[in-house]
Amino acid sequence: MPEILIATKNANKTKELKKLLLNSEVILKDLNEIPNICEAAETGKTFVENAVLKAKSYALQTKMWTLADDSGLEVEALCGAPGIFSARYAGKNATDKENVEKLLRELKRVVDKQRQAKFVCAVTISDEKGEVKFIAEGVCEGKIAVKPSGTSGFGYDPIFIPDGFEQTFGELSVETKQKISHRARAAAKIIRFFADFTA
Ligand code: IMP
Repeated sequence: MPEILIATKNANKTKELKKLLLNSEVILKDLNEIPNICEAAETGKTFVENAVLKAKSYALQTKMWTLADDSGLEVEALCGAPGIFSARYAGKNATDKENVEKLLRELKRVVDKQRQAKFVCAVTISDEKGEVKFIAEGVCEGKIAVKPSGTSGFGYDPIFIPDGFEQTFGELSVETKQKISHRARAAAKIIRFFADFTA
């Protein structure tokens, strides 16, 4: 069974991806299992560029096939912000709560109809030589609530209402999020790639 490195130290992300890719014929490891690794620079201008930078850097360092993702929230009324800066929207070491508060401040005067937003997740897979073999994106459309609700998930989940629902990702069950999220949609494309790869 081929071994694939997931380019993250975030145990939650590894857990989520392992669950989504449960039936794929691959063994997934993450950066916490690899000692002495240098952090990849995320200097790209798009989610795809950053995912490619991470996948190539860690593949070259470890000589392993590497899967990297980069994700964030794009808000229409803010011309796509916070976008690739989602994790540090309110500053370098901002907490989820500070990022959410800043976004709600920015949208204070924006009416319900104009609060459309989408979560985007870019995924790339590099071979052990740093050659990119796969790029895909998953998108989840929705809108930004006027106040946070719910405690499930992380990041902007308490203020994101996916299309077709009345509740935020913070209120919806993990199972529902796992079916419709940007990461789940990107993972579905990875599963198809792995199926060909291991055939
Ligand atoms: P990264 O891809 O782990 O760097 O995620 C960037 C940032 O985007 C996170 O820190 C969150 O603020 C936001 N984000 C990405 N995916 C989600 C999600 O599923 N729910 C809520 N926020 C998310």
